[in-house]
Amino acid sequence: MSRIAIYPGSFDPITNGHIDIITRASKMFDELILLVCFNPLKRGGSFTPEERIDLIHRCVDLPNVRVDRCDGLVADYASQVGACALVKGLRAVSDFEDEFQQALINKHLAPDVETLFMVANSEYMYLSSSAVRQVSFFGGDVSTFVPESILSLVEKKLKRIIESQT
Ligand code: ADP
Repeated sequence: MSRIAIYPGSFDPITNGHIDIITRASKMFDELILLVCFNPLKRGGSFTPEERIDLIHRCVDLPNVRVDRCDGLVADYASQVGACALVKGLRAVSDFEDEFQQALINKHLAPDVETLFMVANSEYMYLSSSAVRQVSFFGGDVSTFVPESILSLVEKKLKRIIESQT
């Protein structure tokens, strides 16, 4: 039986920290699904779900990794595709409380799906999608935060958002 894992997130946009978790997790499972979750309750997003998926396609090219979108519950999606695990990245203690709660809720909703935490690479401990958006907003260099293949697209889109707001 093939072991399928889900790596859910906003990926708004995908960062080198995500790429690090994807690369490591892809070696542990037969198939890894990057699940782009669009949470209408989460404010401050910049890229549409389609743009987030497009950016991922431009910088992730691993044979056992595919991308999908989820507008509902991750636990339902995981059960539907027969996944055995949800992979989460932990950057700092601040991630832990929220992730711990989500893991317990998901265990309740989908008892057969385990949540696995991977500790962030120390190089990317500080990195988040919102940091990319903020640094870019103030004109900073984000070239070490996102893969080179998407850098100009990310910068262009964020510049357009800034211009439309000022
Ligand atoms: P963010 O919190 O940056 O907006 P997401 O919602 O896309 O990111 O996060 C999806 C998953 O990836 C979460 O489990 C999050 O903890 C993890 N993650 C995000 N950035 C990193 C990073 N730099 N290193 C390791 N894991 C990360």
